[in-house]
Amino acid sequence: QGTAVVVGASHAGAQVVAGLRQQGWSGRVVLIGDEAVLPYHRPPLSKAYLSGKSAIGELAIRKPAFYAKQEIELRDARVESIERAERRLVMADGHSLSYDKLALCTGGRARLLPVPGADLPGVHYLRTFADVEQIRESAQPGKRAVIVGGGYIGLETAASLLALGLDVTVLEAAERVLMRVTAPEVSAFYERIHREAGVTIRTGALVEAMTGEDRVREVQLAGGERLRADLVVIGVGIEPNTELAAAAGLVVDDGVVIDDNARTSDTDIVAAGDCTSHWMTRYGRRIRLESVPSAGEQAKAAAATMCGKEKTIAALPWFWSDQYDLKLQIAGLSAGYDEILLSSDPTRDRDFTCFYLREQKLIAADCVNRPRDFMRSKQKITEGLEVDRAELVQIAAD
Ligand code: FAD
Repeated sequence: QGTAVVVGASHAGAQVVAGLRQQGWSGRVVLIGDEAVLPYHRPPLSKAYLSGKSAIGELAIRKPAFYAKQEIELRDARVESIERAERRLVMADGHSLSYDKLALCTGGRARLLPVPGADLPGVHYLRTFADVEQIRESAQPGKRAVIVGGGYIGLETAASLLALGLDVTVLEAAERVLMRVTAPEVSAFYERIHREAGVTIRTGALVEAMTGEDRVREVQLAGGERLRADLVVIGVGIEPNTELAAAAGLVVDDGVVIDDNARTSDTDIVAAGDCTSHWMTRYGRRIRLESVPSAGEQAKAAAATMCGKEKTIAALPWFWSDQYDLKLQIAGLSAGYDEILLSSDPTRDRDFTCFYLREQKLIAADCVNRPRDFMRSKQKITEGLEVDRAELVQIAAD
């Protein structure tokens, strides 16, 4: 079968190499990553690992022995280019490597905030293990942390830094947190929870600059207000790492375009994870998902395709977020909903479900501390049938 090479050693890459062996790839398998550590779970970086509730040993996706036993070669290198005609990769250190089948699992990188001073010491992004180690060093009790971005990562980071004893302010440019992904009721719920815990949440707050001599001291808002800051964490989304694929002439449209079997526009190259863009019939559009479950799902399909087998990417997207004692589980994508239904009162309770409907069909559900609603909602969304309100209330009441 020759050599299978996987570029990017994280959730998708780790699953592709495991899948290759499971699907019977008997040739060489090489996993190339540029983070100098074995593939690790990224979600705890803003949650249990940042707040000190889980140890470094719990982060590895697979133990080192797994790679040895499965005869998976690990290479610490950055791939600079793909020479498709020769089926060869060129690394930053000048070495090259030939492949018979290639998987691109290059993921994403933190989107940079284009304001003066964002490169000062004490200003951090949160994407990698190296990032979180730096944040942990500056996150001493009593320090003032300013978080830029009220998305899931910003809010999780707020909860974790608060648990470490810091004074925490979240700045969100939009009129509410989680605006891109949830209904106003869910945003209001999270704003209330964070305020009750002691976090200052400021919406409509546009950061214009960060200032300081040797390190960041202040964050300046549009309008001139200045906030003191000992450390700043910026969480304003990611950019997919698609340059390698684009330079090699693969079709890229926001992400590396893949079909239902994770195949790119080159039949010898598959792609999986945050770097991909995939047509989802359920939603009638091409979507680039940023989640561990979808990276795993796409990676399984990618491994099967590399082995000449067929496995279709079909699972419903889902996601989760942990903040304080709250476990949010999200089934489906809510964009385009025309109605919501709440199981109970999010202005009062600490557990509820927000069901999102479009034309009487359930398309998504945000379930806070409601694992059973989550399971039932996934099933209902997948069925794709019309639901009535009584039925949804019943799901929530059962
Ligand atoms: P990535 O994890 O981005 O990995 C890509 C890897 O490829 C990186 O190691 C990168 O350095 C490497 N690479 C890129 N280019 C090259 C190259 N040219 N040569 C060599 N190596 C290269 N998802 C959830 O579902 N639930 C959550 O609760 C959740 N929480 C999160 C919290 C944080 C703080 C972060 C940062 C992400 C979170 N996510 C969560 C998202 C989730 O981590 C991503 O969806 C997942 O990591 C995607 O995996 P991936 O393998 O596609 O890409």
